[in-house]
Amino acid sequence: MKDFTYLAPTTLGEALDLLSTHRERAKVLAGGTDLMLLMQDGVFTPDYVIDIRRIPELNTLEFDPQRGLLVGAATTLRRIETSPVILQKYPQLASGAREIGSVQIRNLGSIGGNICTATPSGDILPSLLSLEATARIASARGERSVPLEAFFTGVRKTVLQPDELLVDLRIAAPPPRTSGSYIKLYTRPAMDLAIVGVAATVTLSAGDSTIQRARISLGAVAPTPIRVREAEEILVGRVLTDEILAEAGQAAARAARPISDVRASAEYRREQCDLMTRRAVRQAVERAKSAA
Ligand SMILES: Cc1cc2nc3c(=O)[nH]c(=O)nc-3n(C[C@H](O)[C@H](O)[C@H](O)COP(=O)(O)OP(=O)(O)OC[C@H]3O[C@@H](n4cnc5c(N)ncnc54)[C@H](O)[C@@H]3O)c2cc1C
Repeated sequence: MKDFTYLAPTTLGEALDLLSTHRERAKVLAGGTDLMLLMQDGVFTPDYVIDIRRIPELNTLEFDPQRGLLVGAATTLRRIETSPVILQKYPQLASGAREIGSVQIRNLGSIGGNICTATPSGDILPSLLSLEATARIASARGERSVPLEAFFTGVRKTVLQPDELLVDLRIAAPPPRTSGSYIKLYTRPAMDLAIVGVAATVTLSAGDSTIQRARISLGAVAPTPIRVREAEEILVGRVLTDEILAEAGQAAARAARPISDVRASAEYRREQCDLMTRRAVRQAVERAKSAA
């Protein structure tokens, strides 16, 4: 690996100044579980590595019933997976984190790293899309907020400029009778990337089990994670039946733009989008029935 200068700012302002000075010659490091491999392979050869883990703002994990959830970009996946408030109010997010690598990887790896590395199979991404998370991005020039759905522009490509840092994610507080699910299909049960990942977030009406709101997203079947609005529209205003689940599943399969690779053929991935969407929606609806 090429030599580099290691920098460890302790404030956000300091980190943004360093990024502004070094721009393309710098790389941000959170857990390093993606970055170090890419540096070892010579994909990235930064002169400066800026470690963001000591910046308190980037390690926030706060829930407020009005403002919802705020998660700092450097928050580890393990902290997300084990957070009581996330397990209770955002189970799809806890599952997305839990599906990544091993406990050792999750103790190092961060939510921001999974987002910024922007691989189509990133396991936390479908859940965040189905929760309509908003990313706060900062640079020495100022701040902007971007809905996570608009953050990804291609395989390993995002809207981040070289001097910008992902600071945190904001997710609205779930209304009553809202819950979610994330299901990952893989070849082997540990340390494997997703063949398909499906997240569902649903809200049921107060009196019965009519679906009032639905958000469905897919991972690993397009260059970026995607929302499936056609499936969402099929579900809204309906009580779940096998027929409606099948319609939603087929809409998800139509929305997928999978490739064939060593893990699975495009045909198999498309078929699994259908079946796994049915499973994820069913699980989300069951959970929403008992959600406060
Ligand atoms: C053995 C192994 C198994 C894995 N299994 C899975 C898996 O099952 N599912 C999965 O989705 N991933 C998996 N991964 C990939 C990886 O662990 C995750 O993507 C993890 O979330 C990356 O987080 P990190 O903090 O380590 O990121 P880093 O490696 O520190 O950073 C990743 C990229 O994001 C940039 N970056 C990080 N934080 C910020 C920020 N706040 N602002 C701007 N840029 C930033 C870095 O510059 C770098 O380009 C695996 C990796 C390994 C080594």
